[in-house]
Amino acid sequence: MHKNLKKTLTELVFDNRFTHCLPADPLLTNRRRQVKNACFSWVDPADSSNPELIALSHEMLNALDLDPETLDSQHFLQVFAGNQLLPGMQPYAMCYGGHQFGHWAGQLGDGRAIILGDVINNERQRWSLQLKGAGPTPYSRTADGYAVLRSSIREFLCSEAMFHLGVPTTRALSLVLSGEKVVRDMFYDGHPEYEPAAIVCRVAPSFTRFGNFQILTAQNDIENLTRLVDYTIQTDYPHLGPPDKQVYLEWFREICTRTADMVVHWMRVGFVHGVMNTDNMSILGLTIDYGPYGWLENYDPDWTPNTTDANGRRYRFSNQSQIAQWNLLQLAEAIYPLINETTPLELALQHYNNYYQQQWQAMMATKLGFAHSSSEIEMLAKGLLKLLESIETDMTLFYRALASFDLPETDFEDNELLQSIFAKVWYQPEQVDASYLDQLKAWLIQYRKICTSLALSEADRVQQMNSVNPKYVLRNYLAQQAIDKAGQGDYTMVQELLEVLRRPYDEQPEKEIFAAKRPEWARHRAGCSMLSCSS
Ligand code: AMP
Ligand code: MG
Repeated sequence: MHKNLKKTLTELVFDNRFTHCLPADPLLTNRRRQVKNACFSWVDPADSSNPELIALSHEMLNALDLDPETLDSQHFLQVFAGNQLLPGMQPYAMCYGGHQFGHWAGQLGDGRAIILGDVINNERQRWSLQLKGAGPTPYSRTADGYAVLRSSIREFLCSEAMFHLGVPTTRALSLVLSGEKVVRDMFYDGHPEYEPAAIVCRVAPSFTRFGNFQILTAQNDIENLTRLVDYTIQTDYPHLGPPDKQVYLEWFREICTRTADMVVHWMRVGFVHGVMNTDNMSILGLTIDYGPYGWLENYDPDWTPNTTDANGRRYRFSNQSQIAQWNLLQLAEAIYPLINETTPLELALQHYNNYYQQQWQAMMATKLGFAHSSSEIEMLAKGLLKLLESIETDMTLFYRALASFDLPETDFEDNELLQSIFAKVWYQPEQVDASYLDQLKAWLIQYRKICTSLALSEADRVQQMNSVNPKYVLRNYLAQQAIDKAGQGDYTMVQELLEVLRRPYDEQPEKEIFAAKRPEWARHRAGCSMLSCSS
């Protein structure tokens, strides 16, 4: 078939290997239960009474070989609201467990996510389609299986924003209002309210999580554990070759590498996941489960957006790499029965550490315009982070400001000039005292010295920096503004943000307002500075 040939919805080709290759839960009723010796349960999405399409990702449509111009929008809406199935779709919910906040939680599973099937596109890429918020499944435990509009907007926008930033992530195809209302107590403080429900169609090559393996090991079901590992290697890691013990180890090592790469990207763009439980860790190293995530505004390594984590701050910005390693250790324990040796698994975990450090340093060097790191650049980068932390400094804006002036020609003794360059990155200008300005000057002089010694041209410096330091990220208050408007039936800001965030590294002067630092009114506002897990 021609590579660029577009398809209609009914022409999509499905290849549902997961359900063909792996054991199903034999019960077909949609009742909450503990599922044993199975990787998934068959379940249909619930009907949506009055679906309405709010937003669509054209890049994702294209990846599925669908043509936005000729798409049958009514049919599309019915399918992605969960009301109709396409030929080849065989909906199911995955069974998985996980460690939540450091404690084994037993069975979790897709409590409000239903996989419709895997599309194989013209380029033979696999895209698994999943409806999040499409009603209860056997894994819904005490909850209802639905998702509210506010969290669905956040998931939809952030998935696509992360993709355009170059961060490994699950994707989002569509955001649909279902017409149902659900009750949520947003801050678990005894104020439940009705909220509109919505469905996001998430898309990824695979939705398998660390927890899919953990649950089988916890049940001592080594036979199915082996089947799932073999399946995952054959389907998601085919380049590793036919599975055997050596390949299991190579596979685990690659998961370590991919996970490290993902976290380095998070650190580059200032993303805090917020709930890095092992059920929220993708086996492909993709950012998954956009819940109470947030974006750093002022550079504060201790910041977490998740109110549920406010005390321990387990999932704070600066702890993400360590938590990822802890989660990898849990995965190592889960696959141990296939390896029966600790040393090679420990070596892979050490590899994670070394590789992360090395990649983090390389990433920090690129943020400053350098092609590679060195011990001198590492010191420079660490010095900068101390400086950014010492007064409230917007991380995103700072790096763009640093690329906005002529480094060799600027007179750093001129305090006014310095203040004018950096004015818009400081949240509390009164913190900018003489001592701070002296430190900033000293840092800039050292930075200039290193650039000169490496003969780094201004053009190269600026080009390098602006290709890794985004101008536009999904600032917490922007997402909240879009949510507030959507609550009144106005979805234009969702669409506008989606559009701006398609080109996060471009200047887009007409969209400057979306690059502004958090306004003061948003400092302590719910949704802007803090979020709960309620969604
Ligand atoms: P999360 O914190 O989103 O990663 O979810 C943790 C677990 O709770 C997963 O098993 C979810 O499927 C489940 N869950 C979260 N919200 C709901 C809901 N509204 N209905 C059913 N299950 C849910
Ligand atoms: Mg989850």
